[in-house]
Amino acid sequence: MMILFFGIRPGKTISIDLKQLKCPHCNQNDTLTGESTPNFFHLFWIPIFRVTTTQAVHCSHCKKVYYKEEFTKEMKAAF
Ligand SMILES: [Zn+2]
Repeated sequence: MMILFFGIRPGKTISIDLKQLKCPHCNQNDTLTGESTPNFFHLFWIPIFRVTTTQAVHCSHCKKVYYKEEFTKEMKAAF
């Protein structure tokens, strides 16, 4: 009997430059970093196709993490 190994696994995270943006939480400039992680459908550990992309923005000053639903217009534009 053959066992199929499949599932969703994250790929390589890409950093996005958001230096021109201001953190809406602490109002600091140059503290935001965007991260985009593609999630791949894997079959036998081989990525077959991309299913979703996880996007998040971190503030190095107030440590707030913004998820896709909380992105400002400017953050969305940068991604
Ligand atoms: Zn902040």
